[in-house]
Amino acid sequence: MKQLKLLEYRKEKLHIVSFSGGKDSAAMLLRMIELGDPIDKIIFFDTGKEFPELYDYVKRMSAYTKETIGVEVEWIQPHATKSGATFEDWFYGKRVGGFHDGKQRGWPMAKDPGCWWSRQSKMVPGNKICNGHYRYLGFAKNEEKRVKFYKTPNPRTGKSKHDDGHIYPMVDWDWNEEDAREYLIERGWAEPFHVQFNRTGCYLCPYQPVKSLKVLARKYPHHYEEILELQKNSPNDFKPGIGYDELLKIREEALAEGDSPEETRAEGVGSGCPMKEAPSLIQIGG
Ligand code: SF4
Repeated sequence: MKQLKLLEYRKEKLHIVSFSGGKDSAAMLLRMIELGDPIDKIIFFDTGKEFPELYDYVKRMSAYTKETIGVEVEWIQPHATKSGATFEDWFYGKRVGGFHDGKQRGWPMAKDPGCWWSRQSKMVPGNKICNGHYRYLGFAKNEEKRVKFYKTPNPRTGKSKHDDGHIYPMVDWDWNEEDAREYLIERGWAEPFHVQFNRTGCYLCPYQPVKSLKVLARKYPHHYEEILELQKNSPNDFKPGIGYDELLKIREEALAEGDSPEETRAEGVGSGCPMKEAPSLIQIGG
């Protein structure tokens, strides 16, 4: 009898909210609570490389969701599990297949084949946890093209990159990223990083622009130092044309220039995981 109940539970579709701590998913989650939408699980993928302010925010949100709907934010830490591996394990690990087979991986590629850490810390566990359930994603209306792309079936296979369980409430509400930002400000849930920066992401993300790196060098010198240390041991450059010497130069310039609020507003620290928390089934090699 007990077994049956477990099977029944497994068949039941859960409503799972993907929460990254960024403004879009935060606004989505808070609005869903306000609307009384069903929420069984709230998941946060911890890359292990987020900014300290973001971790604090996730904890604060978890306390709030526990109090209001009785659901805490679950931290998914692939690197903290038995089978998981840390960013460093992957960084120093060897590539499998392709032209670079057997060579040290080093930095994730800013272009193709994409970020192996996004795949390992977000996509793989996300697909496992959410498989067969409803998954709510904070994609804004102005990202509709991206949603369409994920949903469009491949003409050859007839399958889309997303299964039918993915839901984009902000697209349904007609909310763009600015609406999400304003909503958070109104509700008292906006943190400086939500207002100043477009996206959040790992502080060592190679996708971030130089402006963002300069902010990092000034505001988070120990994180910048970590990038330099990794660069010393990487077979590839942090970004195309930006290796160890260039990183040193960027830091020098950043310190000489000093703070510039307009600059941070324009690009922001950790300009954001381009993969967002997308549960894409896209194949990323490396
Ligand atoms: S923020 Fe950058 S480094 Fe981190 S998972 Fe996303 S793409 Fe990869």
